[in-house]
Amino acid sequence: MEKIQEKSEITIELNKVPIQWELDKGNLTFFGIDSALFWTDPSISNMLAPIVDELGMDLFRLLVAYSSSLGTEADYHAMISTLATNFKDGFLSWGKAVSAAGWGSFEILEYNPIDRQAVVIVKNPWELSTQKNLQGEKRWGAPFLQGKLIGIFSHAFKVPCWANDTCYFDAETPYVEIRIFQSGMTIMDELKKLRQKRMLDKERELTAMVDLRTIELQQAKDEIEKYSVTLEQKVEERTANLVDLNIQLEQEIKIRKNAEAKLEELNRELLELSFTDKLTGIANRRRFDTVLLTEWSRALRSRCSLCLIIGDVDWFKKYNDSYGHQAGDNCLQLVANVLQRNAKRVSDLVARYGGEEFALILPITDGEQAKSIVEKIIMDFRDLNIPHSLSEYGHVTMSFGIAVVVPRVDQTVELFLKAADDALYSAKKEGRNKCVMLNYDT
Ligand code: GH3
Ligand code: MG
Ligand code: MG
Repeated sequence: MEKIQEKSEITIELNKVPIQWELDKGNLTFFGIDSALFWTDPSISNMLAPIVDELGMDLFRLLVAYSSSLGTEADYHAMISTLATNFKDGFLSWGKAVSAAGWGSFEILEYNPIDRQAVVIVKNPWELSTQKNLQGEKRWGAPFLQGKLIGIFSHAFKVPCWANDTCYFDAETPYVEIRIFQSGMTIMDELKKLRQKRMLDKERELTAMVDLRTIELQQAKDEIEKYSVTLEQKVEERTANLVDLNIQLEQEIKIRKNAEAKLEELNRELLELSFTDKLTGIANRRRFDTVLLTEWSRALRSRCSLCLIIGDVDWFKKYNDSYGHQAGDNCLQLVANVLQRNAKRVSDLVARYGGEEFALILPITDGEQAKSIVEKIIMDFRDLNIPHSLSEYGHVTMSFGIAVVVPRVDQTVELFLKAADDALYSAKKEGRNKCVMLNYDT
């Protein structure tokens, strides 16, 4: 190899192309245009292959073709003015010139300006050498040359043209065959179409994704709804159970309350009975004893007069004997009635003292008041006129003993009772059907 002596500026002309090195500046120009030398493989190959992967083959090819088609008007004018007088020769001269930069060797296989068709072969182009070590499906062909020839031939044929590149990666001489023909297609239109298609694809992809997500969301919603229905059912069941339980409880409470009320009523009745005389319905001896003690204490405290009357039916044995025991019972009920209606105050008490003996406790009552009550009773018996054939009076009568006291602490109920009893005894002795009063002082 011829060695050029090192100078800071070297200019050589290859295939009529001036190539200039400004070594001190590190500058290289080709056709007077700043240029650079790269290894097609690996430098360019490594630079482009990932871009192809990222962009996709179609878009990459169209973008490259578009970029290389720029400036082809100037190329074409150079071909038919500076480089040659006709296009075909001019084209081949141009091919020769750029072959100096490794663009390959250009041949025109077919050229038909009437039908506006041409076939160009480019051997050993830099584009193919870039891809020689790539897998078949990774190779992107020769879009640079395709764009260049589309541009040049569109000017040459004066109509829009398209070009198809077919690459042959022969081990010996790789080459590309480019068929150029008149066409309605333009690189810009194809780019536009591709971009639109990509946008549509993206849109479709997005729509599909949205659809999928919508379905997933709907499924999740359905599941939540199903779950909430189950939950509602469970809550309803629970509520129903609780309501049932509540009703049951309320019923039980009602039953228990009724039972309690009945028990109370029974207790009251029992208490009442324990203080009531069965035959006459008035207070019994037990009640009498209690009330007498209470009234004694009350009178003692308030220093009021207290009256005790004991009455006994006269000749009652004889009454029973002549009218029978049942009539005797009836008579005792009438007696109780007469006594009861003459004890008018709320605090007055009429009691059956025992057998045919009755007692009246009259609080805050003096002797005169008691006497007039008894006289009224005696008159009532006369008016009632219950026949008693064996009585000296011809009807049922009673004798009464009255004891009156304003109690003192040194006095006793027992002696007070005895006083009334003594008075009754006196009444009996004095002929019955009357009352005797004793003032209990001792
Ligand atoms: P006196 O005038 O002295 O009181 O004479 P009496 O006959 O009333 O007195 P006595 O004590 O001799 O008799 C009382 C009678 O009263 C005897 C008894 O059979 C009768 N008697 C007592 N309790 C009842 C009763 O609950 N029913 C009936 N039918 N008779 C009774
Ligand atoms: Mg008696
Ligand atoms: Mg009697």
